[in-house]
Parts: sequence; C-alpha cells; structure tokens
Amino acid sequence: MRDLVQLARPDSVAEVVALVGGFSGNISYIAGGTDMVIALEQGPRPDLVIDISRMQALNFIDADIDAIHIGAATPLSTLAEHHVLAAKLPVLTQAAGQVGSLQIRNRATIGGNIASAVPGGDLLPVLKCLDCRIEVLRRDKTTTIQAFDEVVTGLGKTSLGNGDIIAAITIPLQFGANRISAFGKIGRRRELAIARLNLALLADYDSSANRINDVRIVAGALGPVPLRLRSVERQLRGRTVDNTLADDFLQALTAAVDAAIPGRISQAYKRHAVMGLGLDLLQRLFAREFSWAGWAKAPA
Ligand SMILES: Cc1cc2nc3c(=O)[nH]c(=O)nc-3n(C[C@H](O)[C@H](O)[C@H](O)COP(=O)(O)OP(=O)(O)OC[C@H]3O[C@@H](n4cnc5c(N)ncnc54)[C@H](O)[C@@H]3O)c2cc1C
Repeated sequence: MRDLVQLARPDSVAEVVALVGGFSGNISYIAGGTDMVIALEQGPRPDLVIDISRMQALNFIDADIDAIHIGAATPLSTLAEHHVLAAKLPVLTQAAGQVGSLQIRNRATIGGNIASAVPGGDLLPVLKCLDCRIEVLRRDKTTTIQAFDEVVTGLGKTSLGNGDIIAAITIPLQFGANRISAFGKIGRRRELAIARLNLALLADYDSSANRINDVRIVAGALGPVPLRLRSVERQLRGRTVDNTLADDFLQALTAAVDAAIPGRISQAYKRHAVMGLGLDLLQRLFAREFSWAGWAKAPA
C-alpha cells in the first residue's frame, strides 16, 4: 500500500502562505489535477498536497487598459470563453480552447499548464510570445514577478522551489489598436492530444498600409522550452502582406525547424507540417487566401 498524503484545502492566499511556511516536507499543489493525479499515481508522493482548485482569489480575469491579469487557478474553459480576452488576445483564447476536451478544459488551469512545463503545453508558446509576467509567492513569504523564461526552464522543469506557488499571470497589451494574434496547433488526434507542434503569433499590423510593423513568433514542441523564431520574425517585419510574404514566411518556418531539430526523427514531418500550420495562421490572421507556390518547391 502506498503512503498516505496529507491534504489541505485553503480558502485564501494568506492560508497558503501560513501552511507552506510552517511545513518542512515536500509540498505539491493540485489545481485542476489533470496532470497531478497521474503524477501522484506514478511518481514519488509529496508529504502535503494543497488543493487550490476552489480558491476564488486565484480564479479571475481582469482587463485594464495596459494589461490582462489572470489568476493562476483560472480554468482554461473560462479563458477560452472570455469575450474581452477573445477580442484583445485571440491567440490566448484559441490556445486555451484547443487544450484536450471540454472536460479537461473545465478542470485544467493556466497555472498548472505553466508549472507542468511539458514541451507541447499549448499555453506556453502563447505566454512567451505575449511576454507575460508570472507572479510567484515564495515559501519565504516574498513575491517575485518573473518573465516566462525565468520560470519555465526546461523539459518539465521550472524555477519554482518547494512550496512556491504561481499566483497570477499578467499580460501586457502590446501594439495598441494594431494588435493581431493567432494560435495554431498540430496534434495526433483532433482532441485529447498534446501538440506535436504549435505556433503563436502576435503582430503590429497597419491595416491601412497592409504592412506588418512588428511581430513576435514562438513555436512549442520544437525543443524542451518554447522557441522564439527570430529568423522568421525578420522575414515579416516591415513587409507588405501578399503572396510573396507568405512564400518567405513559410520557407523561413521550414528553415527554423531544420535549425531547431537537425537530424531528429520528427524533423522530416515537422518541417512540412509547420508550413501548413503557418499558412493556416496567415489565412486566419488576414482573413484571406494566399496562393502559395512554395508547396511544389519546398525542399524535400
Ligand atoms: C487527456 C488529457 C489531455 C490533455 N491535453 C492537453 C492539451 O491538448 N494541451 C495542453 O497544453 N495540455 C494538455 N493536457 C495537460 C493538462 O491538462 C494541462 O497541462 C493543464 O493545464 C494542467 O493544469 P492543472 O490545473 O490540471 O494542473 P494540475 O494537474 O493540478 O497540476 C500540474 C502541476 O502543476 C503544479 N501546479 C498547479 N498549479 C500550480 C500553481 N498555481 N503554482 C505552482 N504549481 C502549480 C502542480 O503541483 C503539479 O505539479 C492534457 C491532459 C490530459 C489528462
């Protein structure tokens, strides 16, 4: 028989801080439990599990002029269905809406997605692309505000220490009225699939000039942590949106995959898949078709 685990259900952040401060053993949080239940079955058991799934203080979405603030225990279904978020950051609602099934999204949280740090985690490239700030309450009662890369550090790895809790995520609203964004993913099956490749794009697009002023593109599942595709961004920055741009964008995506995973078994698949993903993103972002000749000349 496996060892019994202590379980706590605090109602407030103050209770969490008091709990972890006075506990010397290993602590794990459980939010939606979609990853954690499996981890508890398979891995070493913590001494204390803190259930934060009912904590209203960690379940919120607030929008102000400059930023969106999201509580770490906010379920992904709430994100996916949030109208203000959908209008301001479709890249985030699209990613949340493509995680697992509706049952999974009703449980799974944004904080859990970050803390699990799996390479195909759908919110990870989005949060990096959006340059989010992550608020962490430390066991020593300090609070730190960190960039995405400072928290998610490797495959299944974070900089969170024992008892540290992600409290909230702040997303700055860049690019004002020119902001456009989109998310795309390729998984093994339509639902319940961790992504084999996902892509988040945020751009400053001047629609009257049909020009991309600035852009950030991040790919997930191309390595242990989300990868910013700066070489692809350079192909888009300052460019008019037309078929030539689509051509250069898709070729640059293929080159970025080649550079990221040279010689890997998945390289042959992903270097082609990324073109389909990229074309889909472009078509959704600009609500138009692109007649792209590149399929024929795409390098084998
Ligand atoms: C069938 C199935 C399909 C899935 N499909 C997808 C998919 O398509 N895309 C995808 O990205 N993911 C998918 N997942 C993975 C999972 O649903 C997500 O990673 C989810 O966001 C995890 O959130 P959670 O609240 O359930 O985390 P939990 O399982 O509660 O916790 C996961 C880990 O995070 C820690 N943790 C949770 N919250 C905090 C916090 N606030 N502070 C510090 N640590 C914390 C826990 O201690 C634990 O280590 C799937 C899972 C299943 C079972």
